[in-house]
Amino acid sequence: MTKIDSIINVPNSKNKIIIQLKKILDYSKTNKISISIAGARHSMGGHTMYPNGIILNMRPYKEMTIDTINNILTIGSGALWEDAINYLDKFHKSIAVMQAFSSFSIGGSISVNGHGWQKDSPPISSSIISFTLMNYKGEILNCSRTENKELFSLVIGGYGLFGIILDVKLEVVDNETLQFKYIRLTPENYVEYYQKLISDNPKVKLVFGRLRISNKHFLEEVTLNYFEKIKKKPKKIPPHNKKNESSKRLVFRSTANSEYGKRLRWDLENGMNKILINETFTRNNLLNDNVSLIENKDKTSTDILQEYFIPERHFKQYIDKLKDVLPNKHIDLLNITIRSVYKDNDSYLNFAKEKVFGFVFLFNQKKK
Ligand SMILES: Cc1cc2nc3c(=O)[nH]c(=O)nc-3n(C[C@H](O)[C@H](O)[C@H](O)COP(=O)(O)OP(=O)(O)OC[C@H]3O[C@@H](n4cnc5c(N)ncnc54)[C@H](O)[C@@H]3O)c2cc1C
Repeated sequence: MTKIDSIINVPNSKNKIIIQLKKILDYSKTNKISISIAGARHSMGGHTMYPNGIILNMRPYKEMTIDTINNILTIGSGALWEDAINYLDKFHKSIAVMQAFSSFSIGGSISVNGHGWQKDSPPISSSIISFTLMNYKGEILNCSRTENKELFSLVIGGYGLFGIILDVKLEVVDNETLQFKYIRLTPENYVEYYQKLISDNPKVKLVFGRLRISNKHFLEEVTLNYFEKIKKKPKKIPPHNKKNESSKRLVFRSTANSEYGKRLRWDLENGMNKILINETFTRNNLLNDNVSLIENKDKTSTDILQEYFIPERHFKQYIDKLKDVLPNKHIDLLNITIRSVYKDNDSYLNFAKEKVFGFVFLFNQKKK
C-alpha cells in the first residue's frame, strides 16, 4: 500500500488545465512534494505513484477534434482509446496503432509506447505526429520529429518522467470492414506461414497468434488469427454486448489454476474460430474491447502481464526454451499472445530495435 498526499482531477478544457497545472507545480516545488501522472492506471511501478506525492488524474482532459482531410486527430491525453474510437467512428476513421484493449488513456499509452495487433506496425510512436508537453518549469513545449526532437523521443516511452503530455496529434486511418480468417499451426511453422499469409498479403490489417498453454500439448500448437480488408461499407460501431462479454470473461477466468479450464478454453476458442471464419467486423468494432473481458475479481490473487520481444530468427529457439522454463513454476500461466512489431525509430527507450515478435504473457499469482 502506498500512502499519497492527494489526487487532483485536472479540468476538462485547455485554458483551465494550463492555469491549474502551473499552480500545482508551484505548490509542489514550494512544499517539496513529488507529482505523478495517472491515465487509466493500468500500469505498475513506483513511477506511477510516489509515496506522499500528488497524483494528477488526467482523465477529465479529453477534448478532441479531427482533420479529416489530413487524417489527424487532436486529442487530450486523458481520453481513453474507446473515447477516441467512438468519436472517430462518426467520421468513418479509426486508430492507426493502439494496444489490444481500448481501456487505456492516450497519455499512458504514449508514455509506455504500447504496441498492438495492427499488421507489421511499429509501436504507437509511429502514429504520433506531435504533442504539447508541460515541463517541470510550467513551460508548454511543442514536441515533434522536427521541434524539440530529443524531448519527443524521450517522452514517448518515458513513463511520465519528462513532463505532462497535454494535447496529442495522432495519425488516423480509415475504418474498414474486415473479414476473419484463422489457421492452426505448429510453432515450428509459424514464421513461414506468417510471412506467406500475413506479411505478403496486403489485405491483412489486424493479426495475432495464440499459443496453446494447457499442460497437454504445452506450446505445441498455435493459432494465427487475422482480418482481411474487404470491399464493404463499414457499419456503425455496435454497443457493447454485455452478455457475450461476460461469457467470454467466464471462459477466460475458468483457466486460472485449472488444467481443465485451459483445455476447455483452447477447444472452445478453436470451435468458435471455425464458426466465425469469414465473418465480417469493422476495424473500430475489433479495436474496441474493454479490459473487463479478462478482469480478475478474485481478491486472493493478482494478474501480471509481461512482454518479451524476440527477433524473428530466434522464434523457434525461444519457444523451445519456454518449454523448459515455464512448467512446474509456482505461477499460473493464463495466456500467451504473439504480435509482430516493426522497428521503432522514434522512441529513445525503444523495445523494438529491429523487427520482433512480441510475446505477451498473462500470469495469475496468489497474494501472500
Ligand atoms: C490487461 C492489459 C493488457 C495490456 N495489453 C497491452 C498491449 O496489447 N500492448 C501494450 O503495449 N501494452 C499493453 N498493456 C500495457 C499498457 O499499455 C500500459 O499499462 C499502459 O500504460 C496503460 O495505459 P494507462 O492509461 O492505464 O496508463 P497509466 O497506468 O495511467 O500510466 C502509465 C504511465 O504513463 C504516465 N502517464 C499517464 N498519463 C500521462 C500524461 N498525460 N503525461 C505524461 N505521463 C503520463 C504515468 O505516469 C505512468 O508512468 C496491457 C496492460 C494490461 C493491464
